[in-house]
Amino acid sequence: MGTYARQNIVFARGEGAWLETSCGERYLDFGSGVAVNALGHAHPRLVAALTAQAGQLWHTSNLYRVAGQEKLAERLVEVTFADKVFFCNSGAEACEGAIKAARRYHFVSGNPERWRIVTCTGAFHGRTLTTLAAAGNAKYLEGFGPEAPGFDHVPFGDLEAIRAAVGPETAAVMLEPVQGEGGVHVGSADYLRGLRALCDEAGILLVLDEVQTGVGRSGKLFSHEWAGITPDIMAIAKGIGGGFPLGAVLATERAATGLTPGMHGSTFGGNPLATAVGYEVLDAVLEPGFLDEVQRKTLRLRQGLAQIQDQFPDLVSEVRGQGLLVGIKVKVAPAEVVASALSEKLLLVGAGDNVVRILPPLVVADDEIAEGIGRLARALTRLSQSDVSKSQS
Ligand code: PLP
Repeated sequence: MGTYARQNIVFARGEGAWLETSCGERYLDFGSGVAVNALGHAHPRLVAALTAQAGQLWHTSNLYRVAGQEKLAERLVEVTFADKVFFCNSGAEACEGAIKAARRYHFVSGNPERWRIVTCTGAFHGRTLTTLAAAGNAKYLEGFGPEAPGFDHVPFGDLEAIRAAVGPETAAVMLEPVQGEGGVHVGSADYLRGLRALCDEAGILLVLDEVQTGVGRSGKLFSHEWAGITPDIMAIAKGIGGGFPLGAVLATERAATGLTPGMHGSTFGGNPLATAVGYEVLDAVLEPGFLDEVQRKTLRLRQGLAQIQDQFPDLVSEVRGQGLLVGIKVKVAPAEVVASALSEKLLLVGAGDNVVRILPPLVVADDEIAEGIGRLARALTRLSQSDVSKSQS
């Protein structure tokens, strides 16, 4: 179906931060499949884990215990706020599961009237009908029938707006600690701490969507760690699978009480192949020094981008982000920058609010960062020259 406006390019293989077409043209991947390939392409550990699992067992369904699922869940519980994990296959499913958990928690706690969820404008939680309603982006909702009810939208970053929106029917507040698709808007530590306190005072749950920010992308294992808070429920996907479809809902014991046997499920969720890969990704990101390296590389990338901003004030108005989730706000259409970068064999990703996202794999090397900055400078030079030629003609 014609759902994607794809670039006319086909990649045949990848290694680390590089992708190669069947003609042997090499591209530097600073998009990571939209924040997915945390360990880059064809990481030997992931290839080994997947192929070993492929020779043993692919699928049994959740009618039975799944060893790899239990192993990954135990590790997630060990290193996060969570006591319970539910596995699914994508970010949208993880957000749906998080919404269901939050509503059911109040239902089984004797407060069935608490089912509404406060969410933020500019958010992105996926493309299912409910996650679209959660984000409330009119452009994506049009023509799909009545909008799923139960979401109250407030501007991102405005604690008082959330306070005003919380009422006797509110079950939870749900948001991304850094809005990715919306244009790399970083929620401040004060905002997140304020939210945690507000949710506790109101007796409602804090649900974080860390689908894009999670698993090392922010420079911490999870972005909320920067604010020193923990959520009650968290949706993850993208990075945890390193390129294999995997999502999860993490929750405290209390917040998970509503999801009793039969109340939620997924045929493929927590499949042996996906969880074998997920465990290796998590284990690699948790290796001593890995996240320190992500933070060090973040600084290097930001230094390079600060120079780019100085060099191209007519094209770049701001650089912002957290960890290796960086946005450059541009003064032309982001698609023009993405296209110009593609001509320089550099892959970038567009976002809302006139932002171009830079999302290298977490394992990107220093010389690759320098190479990426060089290619971006050439792409912007090309754009500014075409602007000059346009204005002269
Ligand atoms: N939540 C966030 C924060 C995302 O960035 C995305 C995808 O971009 C999603 C949810 C949806 O994930 P998926 O496309 O895997 O359904």
